[in-house]
Formats: sequence, C-alpha cells, structure tokens
Amino acid sequence: MEQMSLMEADSTTIENEEKSSVPEEKLNFPFNVSHENLQYYMNFIHNSKNTQKENQLVFWMQRIGLLPKVKLCQKCNPQQKMECRKARVIDRWQWWCAKCEARAPVRDGSFFARISCSLIDALKLILAWCEDADCNIVASQLGVKLRVASMIYDRLDELAVELHTRIKLGSAEGLMLVTMYPDCLYRQSPDTTDQPHKHRILMMADTTNIPTNYWLHVIKTGCEKLSNDDNEIKEEVSSILSSVYGCGLLLVEDCVPFTEHHEQLRLISMNSVADHACSDMKRFIYEDFWRQATILCSASRDYCASKDYSSIKDCTRAVQRYLHVAAYRFRHPRNFYEQTLQAVAQKYNITMTDAV
Ligand SMILES: [Zn+2]
Repeated sequence: MEQMSLMEADSTTIENEEKSSVPEEKLNFPFNVSHENLQYYMNFIHNSKNTQKENQLVFWMQRIGLLPKVKLCQKCNPQQKMECRKARVIDRWQWWCAKCEARAPVRDGSFFARISCSLIDALKLILAWCEDADCNIVASQLGVKLRVASMIYDRLDELAVELHTRIKLGSAEGLMLVTMYPDCLYRQSPDTTDQPHKHRILMMADTTNIPTNYWLHVIKTGCEKLSNDDNEIKEEVSSILSSVYGCGLLLVEDCVPFTEHHEQLRLISMNSVADHACSDMKRFIYEDFWRQATILCSASRDYCASKDYSSIKDCTRAVQRYLHVAAYRFRHPRNFYEQTLQAVAQKYNITMTDAV
C-alpha cells in the first residue's frame, strides 16, 4: 500500500494488479464504524474487486455521482466526447479522446481530483471522517500520507460548514432556546477551574427537530471576560440571532447579552418563564436540551488547547469550524457515510442518473 500511496493518482505509473485489490484484513479499521456505515462501505469493497467492467469501482462511483460520467476533450474544437478506457494508471481507467488522443484522469472535476491516493483509500478516509476518527492515526494505519489524508478531511470539513450554515433555525410554532457557554455551567456556583475558558460560545437550539438542531457560535468580540453591558458584544449576539433564526419566539437565558429589538424575532427571558414552570420544564430548558451542545463545546475546549495558534483570531476561526462540523455531524446520527457521499456528489454537481 505504501508504494501505491506515493504514486500520483493522475500519473501513468504502471499499476500493480495485486496491490489494488483490497485484502480482507483492511476491514479492520483503526476506528469504530457504525453498522450502517460499514454496510454502505462494503459496496465499494465489492466493486473494487469486481472484474466485470460495468461493475468496477470507477463505474460504480460514476453511477452514484462521485465521478463524472461524461467528459469533453478540452483540446478539441468542436468539443469531443471522451471515452473511458482501461489504462495502466492507479485508477485503472482514464478518459481518452479518439480524435486527438488526449488523456485525462477519471477524477477530473470531482472531489477526488489531485488527491494522491487510491480511490478506495480515499473512500476509507471519508468513512474515517464520518466516524470522527483522528486523521493522524487513520493516515498512518492506512499508509496514506498525512498531507493527503488532511486534504480529504479539509475538503469534507469545508463541505460540512457550508451545508450546516445554510440552514436556518426557528419556526413559528417551535420552542427555541438560547444560552451562553461556559456561563450556563455556573448557574449555581462560580467558575473555579484552573484553566479559564478562552472562548464564549453562544449556544442556539431549535427543539422542533430530533436530534435537536444546534448552532454554536464562537463569540468574536473580546475573548477576555467582557461585561455583558458592552454594546459590541450585544450587537454581535443580536446580529447572529437575526441571521440564524428565521423567525420565532426565543427563550434567552439571562447570561446572554442581548438587545430586545428584532424585526422577526420575539425574545423573552428564560428565567422569567422558568419562574412559573414546573421542575420538569425547568430541567428541560436548562439541562436536557443543552446536554449534547455542552459536550461539543467542552470538546472544542480540548481541541483549542491542543492547537497552538499565533493569534486569538485564528484560534476563534478554527474553533468555530470545529463546532460547525461537530454540530453538522450531530444532526446526522444515521447513515452519515451515505449522506456524506451524496453531499459530495451534489457539491461537485455530478448528476446522479441512477439510484444506488
Ligand atoms: Zn481531443
């Protein structure tokens, strides 16, 4: 595998037939894989071994939209449709123009373009990302260069952020909650931990969805404990609430600095509601709904501590990305691998002509 991972995917290096078949032990992933994700992945293994042309991995990936099905020759004018031909390259197939004999990798125009590892390793790395497995560990276990594995993780992170930030929270009839991390942890007792929290995170939840839709926003305004009366932080919170929630009634905890004027939103104090609520309701709005979000925020704190950013701005940006990806992953508790591959296909605008 090592030799293969060093080969440029687009090169015409002679391929070793044996090396591209996938040995059974490769199914022992160095990370936990959910049953559904494993089932879906098995399709690739099956197809990577198939000897019939139409069943081979490349064609199967074309069918589910992960690789383009047609390609026009860039050198010929008028444009000429290229043909997919067997070739001694890592992907076993490449595009070929019958008129000018130009060649092009089957990965052109796809997520997999310029990723220097075999397609099956790339699919494994996507699975690893879906399972939130450590990129360093997975790369070394699969014998893929860390640079290559990181590129795949980066592309998926970007896609997740794009998809996650596209949705709006809120509805006319649902219950929306807003609080601030870590402030909400210290309702009863003050923060006495040795390591102060570097970031404050505005936690927003739409309880109409199962699992709860979260939006976790890392506060950019002054990271040291700023007074909630500060106008700058109030403005930041207000503008985020307006952009994240389309409409609705928001219960806002008192630790959140906010201005009450919003065009589409009605903000009311969570504490004033809680004063009249039963104990179940209190537990619900103060604890139950925040359990997962609090776990993600606390994981982001570890993430932040493990990195060494030169500026607080870079750190804020990285933690924000981490939290968007984590919240996106949390919204997809089932069949995440399949959904991720569909998102990849859609992102690259490759039409899915056949269902899987
Ligand atoms: Zn041509």
